[in-house]
Amino acid sequence: MTVTVGVLALQGDVREHVAALTTEGAHAVPVRRERELDAVDALVIPGGESTTIDKLLRAFDLFEPVQRRLRDGMPAYGSCAGMILLADRVLGGIEGQQTLGGVDVTVRRNAFGRQVDSFETDLTIEGVDDGPLHAVFIRAPWVEEVGPAAEVVGRVESGPAAGRIVAVRQGPVLVTSFHPEVTGDTRVHRLFVEIVRESQG
Ligand code: GLN
Repeated sequence: MTVTVGVLALQGDVREHVAALTTEGAHAVPVRRERELDAVDALVIPGGESTTIDKLLRAFDLFEPVQRRLRDGMPAYGSCAGMILLADRVLGGIEGQQTLGGVDVTVRRNAFGRQVDSFETDLTIEGVDDGPLHAVFIRAPWVEEVGPAAEVVGRVESGPAAGRIVAVRQGPVLVTSFHPEVTGDTRVHRLFVEIVRESQG
């Protein structure tokens, strides 16, 4: 079954996500308008700056439509700033910063601090087969608190941030602190496309 996966195209690595989703057999399209959102089965929210994406979602009249789709059960995958936007609660946000919500977690923005502002490490994600993934973190958030509805599927495994939660799933919504679209390894996108296919029955 071919599923149509939108990539929110307001900021960030839109082309890279479209390419990775296409590699994994999805029909991937950029989403910038409500009628484009209406045409997709699922949505990827790329990294970037969550405060900017929040503002752009409103400027493009997409905030409420995306939120409505999420509440209706649309599968979504958020990377980095996308994780922040899909979190129910955010720490270290700017005044007035809102999230779309959907995942019962509290995330902390720019959590890793100056020492490990941007870093790379190998880690295992539940649901991703064939060995560890190379995870690239760029001024990334981590998940500080996980509510009962959400499930931890990945943590940093070594170094100063060992143990920190960096991947969570709640039903058809997946979030990661890191950027899988920059490595050429499309296994996280494979997992998400599988989630979208399952949701289609
Ligand atoms: N620090 C950014 C934010 O708070 C996220 C960084 C990223 O997406 N690479 O939104």
